[in-house]
Amino acid sequence: MITLVGKIFDGERIIEQGTVIVENNKIERIVEGIEIPQGSTVIHGNFIMPGLVDSHLHFFGVEEDNVLSWNIVNEIDAAIRSTRDMERLLRSGFTLVRDLGSKVAVRLDYLQRRGEILGPTVIASGYSLAITGGNDDPKDLPIDIAQRLSYSFYCDSPYECRKAVRMAVRQGARVIKVYASGAFSQGGKILPGLALDELKAIVDESHRFSLKVASHAYGKDAIMDSILAGVDTIEHGLGLDDETASMIKERGICYIPTLATYEIPFEVRDPEAKVYREELVKRHFSEDMSIAVSHKLKIATGTDYVGSKRRPHGRNYREAVLLSKYMSNLEVLRASTSIASECLDVKAGYIREGYRADLIILKDDPTKDIENLKPTNVSYVIKDGRLYTGYGLYQE
Ligand SMILES: [Zn+2]
Ligand SMILES: [Zn+2]
Repeated sequence: MITLVGKIFDGERIIEQGTVIVENNKIERIVEGIEIPQGSTVIHGNFIMPGLVDSHLHFFGVEEDNVLSWNIVNEIDAAIRSTRDMERLLRSGFTLVRDLGSKVAVRLDYLQRRGEILGPTVIASGYSLAITGGNDDPKDLPIDIAQRLSYSFYCDSPYECRKAVRMAVRQGARVIKVYASGAFSQGGKILPGLALDELKAIVDESHRFSLKVASHAYGKDAIMDSILAGVDTIEHGLGLDDETASMIKERGICYIPTLATYEIPFEVRDPEAKVYREELVKRHFSEDMSIAVSHKLKIATGTDYVGSKRRPHGRNYREAVLLSKYMSNLEVLRASTSIASECLDVKAGYIREGYRADLIILKDDPTKDIENLKPTNVSYVIKDGRLYTGYGLYQE
């Protein structure tokens, strides 16, 4: 039994001084004031809260940020580096992450659940679903080689896309990821992604398997098609406007702006494309975000970090820092815990009786300064009721 005493954020509100009692892998009790059961290990924490959530990342296990490297990486290297990244995420305070396309995440999920590796709970998509010749298809390779190596499954037509969902399910997917558009990854312009009829078939098939659908959407057309197809979360969401925001709100779709990836420059060779990218990103940090906030969308933290040098796992708290420019620190904490868990359809993100014991203990209060979510401020992480030291007390 572990007893935690201190200021608490329970996923919804602040308790100035309270006690959390963890028994086995569950939260047994949360009360106001101090109440220490006999024979319990006691930790006096300055700030106790649910573990952090990253709703959008990739375990690519590569140093570089480009599509070819993500596809041709040696898969054993990717697995070993990603196992390291799992531990880094955990010791940085993350107890739940969602991988939206990689070669190793369904296996990380499997091994973490068996208790064989350290790390957060992983909700993995397995294959991401995309069109042939899209932004995630390394076109320098022959198509059969590209498909063989890809973390995406290329599908063209509603029939093929239904099969693609089943291919992901076969791998062990717990969410389905679709590309409703391209990205900046190759060249900088936005190419079209899956068409509306394909998206509809994917959503129908995914929901038959009780899986949520996450849609990578750049530009209004891709956002609109994703909404009309019935997806559950909009990823990136560049080019949000009042019309699409109202529809997102009405349907209870989550909006995951992945600001952390855009604060880091992406290599774009074509100068025209570079200007275009910069304009869209600038708009994302201003108009898109103010529309999302004013429509009171369910905004969740997601970094789109991939485990590369520039987007390393462990610094995923950056998303919370960036979101704090648009909302109060308390709202950022909700976006990082309870709201993100709801978006991932996982019973987590709250310190409540009967919930799984996934908690963190911080040295300083993040409601006063959101930077206090940084890894060196994390003293302890409790995952499934087991106590680990965070980077505040642990050195690699
Ligand atoms: Zn994406
Ligand atoms: Zn992504």
